[in-house]
Amino acid sequence: MKLTYLGTAAAEGWPAVFCECPNCKRARELGGKNVRTRSQALVDGELLIDFPVDTYYHSLSAGIELSKIEDVIVTHTHPDHFSPYDLAYKGEVYSARLEQKKITFHGNAAVKKRLGEIPYMIEENVGYEYLPPFVPTRIGNFEVTALKANHKRDEDAYVYLIVRDKKRLLYLHDTGYLYPQTIEYLEGLGISADLVSFDCTGCVKRWIKNHMGFYEAFALSRALELRGIIRPDTVKMVNHFSHNGAWDHETLCREADKLGFGVSYDNLTVEF
Ligand SMILES: [Zn+2]
Ligand SMILES: [Zn+2]
Ligand SMILES: [Zn+2]
Repeated sequence: MKLTYLGTAAAEGWPAVFCECPNCKRARELGGKNVRTRSQALVDGELLIDFPVDTYYHSLSAGIELSKIEDVIVTHTHPDHFSPYDLAYKGEVYSARLEQKKITFHGNAAVKKRLGEIPYMIEENVGYEYLPPFVPTRIGNFEVTALKANHKRDEDAYVYLIVRDKKRLLYLHDTGYLYPQTIEYLEGLGISADLVSFDCTGCVKRWIKNHMGFYEAFALSRALELRGIIRPDTVKMVNHFSHNGAWDHETLCREADKLGFGVSYDNLTVEF
């Protein structure tokens, strides 16, 4: 299984859109892995996770033909994860070859509401399927289970368990320390994950509400380990970083290494 990180920043990007703080200035100077766009990932080149404002840019930087993508699972409707206004350009005069694939968004009820707000969207080209929490659902070549996230309480925010050919990815963006209900559900499955991607918005700072930093991600990782959900050989990554939390990519790597985590960057592919 392959996870490609397309965007690895928190909501405002890093460098942040309008920010002149030392961390953003440094990211602008250094470039490369220090430049992080809004949150999106691709599994096995087929299944998109989220559709943020930077989706079009990701399609160019990672060479993804969006017309070929059939399924998108959505975590929640913060704009750094779901900003689907480009769907207005899927059809009629804006895109040729209308025999192209229909794109279906899978997620909570707020996703459906947001899709209903897109002007000029051609409904035959864009589908929606409600994903109930804690119910394994077949999506293309994957079995996907939406899990309740500790995040954005005015909707059912999700994190995901994604399974293909007995490989398991636990994608934990965005969330604070997981609810006991979610941990118990995973423990009850009696399975372990091959890759876990932890929210690390706070980076080296503690981040108590809605997100995690290194400290909370490490605590959660230990808790999952004690329940057998993480094995000694499980790949553990941190991702979704805020400019408030650290100097640069190198610092993040140094801190992450102490705790046994790998650090995401835009266009990193991890095979597991
Ligand atoms: Zn986010
Ligand atoms: Zn900044
Ligand atoms: Zn969010």
